[in-house]
Parts: sequence; C-alpha cells; structure tokens
Amino acid sequence: MITTNTSPYPHLLQPLDLGFTQLKNRVLMGSMHTGLEDGRDLAPLAAYFRERAEGGVGLMVTGGFAPNIAGWTKPFAGRLSSSRAARRHRIVTDSVHAADSKIVCQILHSGRYAFHPLAVAPSALKAPISPFKPRALSAAGVERQIRDFVNCACKAREAGYDGVEIMGSEGYFINEFLSAKTNRRTDAWGGDYSNRMRLPVEIVQRTREAVGKDFIIIYRLSMIDLVPEGSTWDEIVRLGMAVARGGATLINTGIGWHEARVPTIATSVPRAAFAWVTRKMKEEFSAARISTPLVTSNRINTPEVAEQILVDGCADMVSLARPLLADPAFVNKAALGQPQSINTCIACNQACLDHIFKGKLTSCLVNPRACHETELVYTPASAPKRIAVVGAGPAGITAATIAAERGHEVHLFESSTEPGGQLNMAKRIPGKEEFHEMLRYFKYRIASTGVKLHLGQRVQADDLKDFNEIIIATGVLPRDPQIPGQDHPKVLNYIDVLRGNKDVGASVAIVGAGGIGFDVAEYLVSGGHSTTLDAAAWRAEWGVADPSVARGGLAPVGPKVEPPARKVFLLQRKSGKPGAGLGKTTGWIHRATLQAKQVKMMSGVNYERIGDEGLLVSFGEKRENPTWIACDNVILCAGQVPLRELADELSAQGKTVHIVGGALEAGELDAKRAIDQSARLAARL
Ligand code: NAP
Ligand code: SF4
Repeated sequence: MITTNTSPYPHLLQPLDLGFTQLKNRVLMGSMHTGLEDGRDLAPLAAYFRERAEGGVGLMVTGGFAPNIAGWTKPFAGRLSSSRAARRHRIVTDSVHAADSKIVCQILHSGRYAFHPLAVAPSALKAPISPFKPRALSAAGVERQIRDFVNCACKAREAGYDGVEIMGSEGYFINEFLSAKTNRRTDAWGGDYSNRMRLPVEIVQRTREAVGKDFIIIYRLSMIDLVPEGSTWDEIVRLGMAVARGGATLINTGIGWHEARVPTIATSVPRAAFAWVTRKMKEEFSAARISTPLVTSNRINTPEVAEQILVDGCADMVSLARPLLADPAFVNKAALGQPQSINTCIACNQACLDHIFKGKLTSCLVNPRACHETELVYTPASAPKRIAVVGAGPAGITAATIAAERGHEVHLFESSTEPGGQLNMAKRIPGKEEFHEMLRYFKYRIASTGVKLHLGQRVQADDLKDFNEIIIATGVLPRDPQIPGQDHPKVLNYIDVLRGNKDVGASVAIVGAGGIGFDVAEYLVSGGHSTTLDAAAWRAEWGVADPSVARGGLAPVGPKVEPPARKVFLLQRKSGKPGAGLGKTTGWIHRATLQAKQVKMMSGVNYERIGDEGLLVSFGEKRENPTWIACDNVILCAGQVPLRELADELSAQGKTVHIVGGALEAGELDAKRAIDQSARLAARL
C-alpha cells in the first residue's frame, strides 16, 4: 500500500473526508467521453476504468450518460434511464470497487448542442456548433427533464455508482438556462437570474431528496463562460452557493462553453491556466462559511502542478482527465516519488477529442492502449529475440521500448547524436513546450526497459545480419518542391529554421501551409516569446478577463496581441482554407493565432520562380496575375517523403523488414499514427 508521508506530493495524496465516505486522495479523474459508453457491451469500459482505479485515482467520473433521448449528444449515445441499463453498468462499478476506487456517473443533457433532431432547450435557438435547431420546452417539458435527471441519478445508484456528476457547464442544457443569450423564456424558468438559475437548483435538491444523504453529488459549475452574455461573477457565486446548500457534495469547475472562441485545454494553454477562477470561488465560499469542497480543472498534467494548486489553496481537489488517458498509473507513480516515469499528456487532442468529434473511439497519442485495454496487451515474449530498430524518432523508440519491455534484446540505432527525431524540432515551437515531456519520457523508457541505444551510428545492411527482426523507422526527408530558382541563397528549409541553424530576415514567404508550415509561421512571428509560458500575456492575447470585472470573463477591449516579430506570407497551391488538415479541435486556434499576428495566408497559388526580389507567384489554372512577394527568405515546408533506402537495400537482399512511421508513409504523417503502428507491431513480435 502506498503511503503519503514519504511522498513529495503530500497535499495531492491526502485523503478527503466527505462525511459519509472518504476519498483516498485528491485526484478526480474528470469526465471524458471515450465512445466506449455507447456500446451494448460495457466490458471494455470496465477494463478502461479498472486500469485507472488500479493506478491509484481517488474518484472517477464516467463520460456523459444522457438522462433521456432528447439529452443524447448524438443518436443512440449512452443513456441511463432504466433498471435494465443500470444492470449493464454493474460490470463498470464492480471492477472499480474491486480496485479500491470510487466512481460517479456523469449525467449529461446536451440541450442545444445535441447532434440530432430531437434536441430540446430553454428557447428554440440553434447553437453555432450544431446543425440542429432545438425545440423550446414547455413548462411541463422542463419538469419532465428534471424528473429524468433525478431518475438517472437513482438508476446510477442502482448500478452501484458512488454518486453522480450533474453537468451544469460547458454550454450544455443546464448552462443554457442560466444565460439570457440562450434563455429567452418569459415563464418561471426564464426572465431574471433567480428564475434562470432555478433549474440547476431544483435538479440538485430533488436529486438529493431522491438518492439520500450517502451518495456523492458533484455539480459541475461553469465558473467562467468565455462567451458574450455569459454569467457575471455574482451570478456564478449565487448559483455555486445555492447548489452547495441544495445538497451538492463537491463542486467541480467548468471552464468555457464549447462554442467559446478561447482555447481552454489545448497544448498552447498555460498549465493550470484557470486555477485562479476556482480560487476566487474558494474565497467566496470561505467568507460565506460554506465547506463544500471545490475541484479545479484544465491543463493540470504533472503531479508538481497539481500539488502546487493545492498548496496555493486554489481548490480541495484537482481534476485530471486526459493525463489519465496518457498514463493510468499517474497517481501511483507520483506516490512512489517517480514523476519522471509518468507518460505525460501533451494536450494535443489528436487521439482523444479529435477522435470523438470524428465519431471514432478515443485513444491517446502517447499511449495507444488507452481505451484499447482489452485488445492491445504487451505480454511477455514467449521466445526472446534479437531485434534491431533503425531510427530513434517516436516510431522507433515506441517499437524498441515495448519490444524490450516484453523481454526481447533490442538495439536502437540513430544516426544523429540525440534521440527523438522530429520531436526535437517540435519542442522549439512556441506553444508546443509539452514535447519536452514526451522526449523526457522516451529517454526514461529507453533507459528503464534496457534498450541498447547506439547514437551517432548510421547502420548499413551488413550491420544487421545477426538480428532476428529488423524494424525500419528511418523517418522522412523534406519534399523537393522543384521551384525554379530554389538554389537562391534566400531559400531555407524548415529544418534550418527550426533547428536555429540559419538567420531569418524580417519578411518571409513560407511554401506549404500544412502542419509544419503553420509551426514555422508561429515560430517566426512569436519572436521567441511563448505566451504558453507567460499566463498573463496569454490571457491578454485571448481576451480573458476576471469574471468579477467582465461578464463571461471576456475582456471588453478584446484580445491584445503583441505585434508580429516578422512579416509572414503562408502559401499553398490548393484552393480552400489553409490548415484544413490540422486537428479538428485545434486547427481553429492555429489559424486564429496567425491571423492575429497578421500573417497573410494565400491559397490557389502557383510557384513561378524565386529571385532577388522574393517569390513570384501566379494564381489559378491559367497562371494569372503574376505577383512578386517581396521577402528576405523563402522557407520550404512542402511536405515530406519517406526515407527508405536501408529498407529497400535489405529487401533487395531478401531480408524481411518491418517498416513503421514516416518511413512507411510520409503523407499526413504524424506521431499519432507512428506510435500506434509501432506499439501494435512490438506487441506481436
Ligand atoms: P503536410 O501537412 O502534408 O503539408 C504539406 C504542405 O506542402 C501542404 O500545404 C501542401 O500544400 C504543400 N505541398 C505539397 N507538395 C508540394 C509541392 N510539390 N510543392 C509545393 N508545396 C507542396 O506536411 P507537413 O507540413 O510536412 O507536416 C507533416 C505532418 O506532420 C503532417 O501530417 C502534419 O499534420 C503533422 N504536423 C502536425 C502539426 C499539428 O499542429 N498538428 C504540426 C506539425 C506537423 P499544396 O499541395 O496545396 O501546396
Ligand atoms: Fe493528451 Fe494528446 Fe493523449 Fe489526448 S491524445 S490524452 S491530448 S496526449
């Protein structure tokens, strides 16, 4: 059993007494929709939670379950409204309890965010992020929704849950009643704030009456809406106190409606960027002698950050969601004083939120086992082999370390002097500092699994004779765009720029507006100042204000952005919006950042020639309007091609090789695919 007294995180690991029950530590696993909730068989969901329970989490919250069909997020999403459904959940609650943890079921009514035609809301107003216009509820309809919330909580109790979380934030159904922007009703559920806040208070009170005293009720309170016409601080405090007095056991922090144009969890958001909002509420509660514990949330991804939040008195608990996808054993590793062994969430959203928005099962870029616990298993190898892995980028390191962990003798060869491949460039982009953590973890894994790392060694086919298996993870080369005049001294490629090998002038044209073109543009306009590491500058940049001085927490003056360090043109040949291939939940942030820095984005261009004047482009199939873009440098970010010479040579010698990552397919390469592919290969060798 892990003890807290020797731990470097005594506040994080301190139990929390809720009166009728105790939580073993201050870590709440925040609600995440994974897609496993929607299946008939909840065994994979049970395995997913069980691993996190065994990893030491004190209290977990499921993904959202709707209390009725109108509240579905999408057609046939998870719903908990009958005893039959409750029986299906038993496997989840039993497996969590067997691992000495606790779990509550989140009740999520989507309101106008629902992606189906049966949506209901306080008023018939379409949300900007759903194509469906909701039906306005009658007064009887509102009563029915409350009854369904209460029924859902009762079914959760029947299913063996330790409680429920009532989702009152993020712009969903309950939140929609609170704001005059989405609640135009004139009956007892609309009008002044007392009427608008009636719904959540009634839901909490009636749920408490129905479930009894010994059942956890978490209320997720939107503490800063980040939308125009959002709640004022006085309104939020009034509601927080009313739900606390109405029977909530814990109050969790919600940050921003889903339609907000302020990033709240992306990797460029500073760590613990919103803990100050929960602290404000704690001060209000303390002044009013309300002892209901508060949970804070968003961008808390290391035990150090979590501990500091508690030391600073910002909250009584911390909510970690994605970090527990990345590493189910986060809490145990912290308790053992081994933070370096934690696989840190880099807040990329690529395999979690982006998957959910595309209707795919959630996973995790840095941990492909997340939500695949029952089918991707790293069992000890039955016959240990000698394995050579060539290339120590994300693909090669993943394959090598999993194979070594399984008992194989693994040699990892890398031609450069450091492991990490392209991550070593990514970490230099302002807003992508979390890549340092990925590199740190990879280095830890190489050492702890016993992989024999050979740096600075460019292997030839003959060097690989004595291996039973050869994995080629040699990565990519920049694509040659073959633009006339590209041997001009003003032409650089992204590697020169991101490795800091070449000076870059005051005006730049970037050829290629893919992931790397955007990264290079952000690097060049930032002038070396990352607002991710400067929380006050980040808040100013996105127009985030104290909700006690500005309704909704939006600065009346709007965003205040530092002037760009350079003039940048970002170009692509395709017509359409640049960056269309970036992540679904993050592409808009990159576009907004560059627009704010006055980057001129141009689509549908032809690259005619590079010369002393700059870059000559024309437009459309007929190559019209030839125009010189005057610039000091042209930077080539025209995509990448696989680097496969060694693989081809080995194949020509009749050797069987496994090719992974960019060496297999460079188009739309990203670390997510490379890591997943390599993990699956290493699991079966
Ligand atoms: P990419 O995203 O495929 O973009 C390549 C760019 O080069 C496109 O804009 C393409 O646009 C242009 N291009 C292609 N062939 C060209 C040619 N012959 N001449 C001139 N331009 C050409 O590739 P990448 O930027 O190298 O990024 C590599 C991978 O890493 C991508 O999957 C990317 O998503 C990923 N990545 C992601 C992020 C992120 O933020 N999520 C950041 C960095 C990298 P046109 O063909 O229209 O000109
Ligand atoms: Fe974190 Fe990215 Fe994994 Fe999501 S996919 S949990 S954001 S590392």
